[in-house]
Amino acid sequence: MNRVYGDETLFEVLKTSQMYFGNDIVFLCSFSNEDMIILDSLCRNHIPIDIYTIDTGRLNPETYEFIDEVIKRYEVKLNYLVPDSGSLQSMLLENGPQLFYESVEKRKLCCKIRKVDPLSKLLTGKRAWISGIRSTQTSERQKFKLYEVNNGLTKINPLIDWTDEKVKKVIQSLGIPANKLYRKGYRSIGCYPCTRPVFEGEGDRDGRWWWENGSKECGIHTSNLGGSN
Ligand code: SF4
Repeated sequence: MNRVYGDETLFEVLKTSQMYFGNDIVFLCSFSNEDMIILDSLCRNHIPIDIYTIDTGRLNPETYEFIDEVIKRYEVKLNYLVPDSGSLQSMLLENGPQLFYESVEKRKLCCKIRKVDPLSKLLTGKRAWISGIRSTQTSERQKFKLYEVNNGLTKINPLIDWTDEKVKKVIQSLGIPANKLYRKGYRSIGCYPCTRPVFEGEGDRDGRWWWENGSKECGIHTSNLGGSN
């Protein structure tokens, strides 16, 4: 077999996870550099794990363009998670489209309806999911490990110990494409109204919900998501 790993450790984690969980594992891709490294390894090594992205409806135009580019370049089938239309309509009717600037509670409501709930619905029928988070990104992420099991659901974070330098090196050495937003000063890829470029001395996720002082998490990685029953 002609193996083309990219990163060998990453390959081993993805391959063994797929062999163990079969069709009950998915990869959630935000098209960040980290997620592109995982997507590249899955595609380069023909590891059959379904790839999902959350289309909140509020992503940057650059991100939508990049998604199109990646689909064509890797010839990958991308699955989309979208908000429940009834919940979205109620939220908009009650709060308007820019509710996230009004309070932390309303911001979390928007993240819940547009991101957490669609993912939770998908994972209810699965046993495992893969995420590209790294421990240096936020204080909350420092406590995460390579494998976590919660409510019967295994979360696999194959890049959890990777440094910024390693991410950049792998992106460059393998010629993995990157979202244009990185060249505009972004270090985290999120929704258009809630993400800005970061300044010198700021952390990777300080551009997320920059008007708030608290957590830089939307809830996907900190909610109690459940797996197969
Ligand atoms: S990041 Fe902003 S627009 Fe996106 S789901 Fe959260 S609050 Fe809504």
